[in-house]
Amino acid sequence: MESPSGPEQGSLLAAARGAYRTFFGGLDPQIAVSAPGRVNLIGEHTDYNQGFVLPMALQMGTMVVGSPREDGIISIVTTAQGADEPKKVTFPGPMEGATLEPGEPRWANYVKGVIQHYQAGPLPGFNAVIASNVPLGGGLSSSASLEVATYTFLQQLCPDNGDPVTKALVCQKAEHTFAMMPCGIMDQFISVMGKEGHALLIDCRSLETFLVPLDDPDVVVLITNSNVRHTLTGSEYPTRRRQCEEAAKVLGKESLREATMADLEASKALLSELVYRRARHVIGEIERTSRASEALQSKDYKRFGQLMVESHNSLRDDYDVSCPELDELVSFALEIPGVYGSRMTGGGFGGCTVTLLESGVAEKVQKHIKVCDIDTEQCLSQWGGQSSG
Ligand code: ADP
Ligand code: MG
Repeated sequence: MESPSGPEQGSLLAAARGAYRTFFGGLDPQIAVSAPGRVNLIGEHTDYNQGFVLPMALQMGTMVVGSPREDGIISIVTTAQGADEPKKVTFPGPMEGATLEPGEPRWANYVKGVIQHYQAGPLPGFNAVIASNVPLGGGLSSSASLEVATYTFLQQLCPDNGDPVTKALVCQKAEHTFAMMPCGIMDQFISVMGKEGHALLIDCRSLETFLVPLDDPDVVVLITNSNVRHTLTGSEYPTRRRQCEEAAKVLGKESLREATMADLEASKALLSELVYRRARHVIGEIERTSRASEALQSKDYKRFGQLMVESHNSLRDDYDVSCPELDELVSFALEIPGVYGSRMTGGGFGGCTVTLLESGVAEKVQKHIKVCDIDTEQCLSQWGGQSSG
């Protein structure tokens, strides 16, 4: 049995194995794999515009445990409270000649999509249990960690060529075609390629990745969960994507990655005020992310923090994807000296904020945010302490 390591992984593994025994006749699973969630430090809504993103993998992740079965049938259970019912699904797999389709429950589509698009075969049937400690829908990418953990599980059953880019792209395709979410490539890339003690600069145009060390004991990344999820997200994300495509078209560019602020200003009269603001966020954010990556390389945390705040303001004012709870969490964090910067992270409309701070003030910031009476759930992540799956 391949055993994922780390303290958090240990309890997740125990929970997954326990559930497996309960659901599958008291047997122990033969395979256990995991993939991490992520926090995006900067570069929001830039991935589907071919820009830069700078996420890092978290210790929180999704685990899949299971065993092959000979009849070609696939049976999967999720232990996640937040997933829709039923929590167990059983269906004929590819070995039975079945073509999988998206359907109900919705959570299973993330798994089915990966199975359907997996390129090696024939895949045997299997029993599996999914256990995760990434909050579902909290902007820390529970969905990609589920897809990538599923893919890693399939690799154990039926090895493919092991190419990490293919792996990330297949997982993204699963999210597009089965979860109907037209996401960019960031979440799947970082979940596959994240490395302990590093952030990952991803060039979403060339698909090149650059590890940026994040191993300074004097600095902490604090993730704060607003615990709110505004339901408009479903339609808002594709709408933003369309607005960006429209802006690029008017500017005569393949994507907003190719456009400069000067290009945007020159075409301002041809764009609606709304589309102009959307494009201004994206073009500015791509530039900020590349500068932030340089600041991080040179350990210029002050500069990095300023760029985070600029990013938040742009997401709030130009991209309209923040919400009062996220804005408040950011303002509270910025009230404490020693905080370099703070911003919403993930798609928006709720979810989490990410804050960069001196490690000496970490406790103070956590207490301050709690005192400010927001129902929060904090996760403190010391740089250098993250693990990949
Ligand atoms: P995020 O990726 O930011 O957490 P998404 O809306 O993209 O938010 O994905 C959340 C969805 O992914 C959940 O509603 C559920 O359908 C699915 N999901 C994620 N993790 C699990 C899990 N452990 N078990 C079942 N479904 C999961
Ligand atoms: Mg997601």
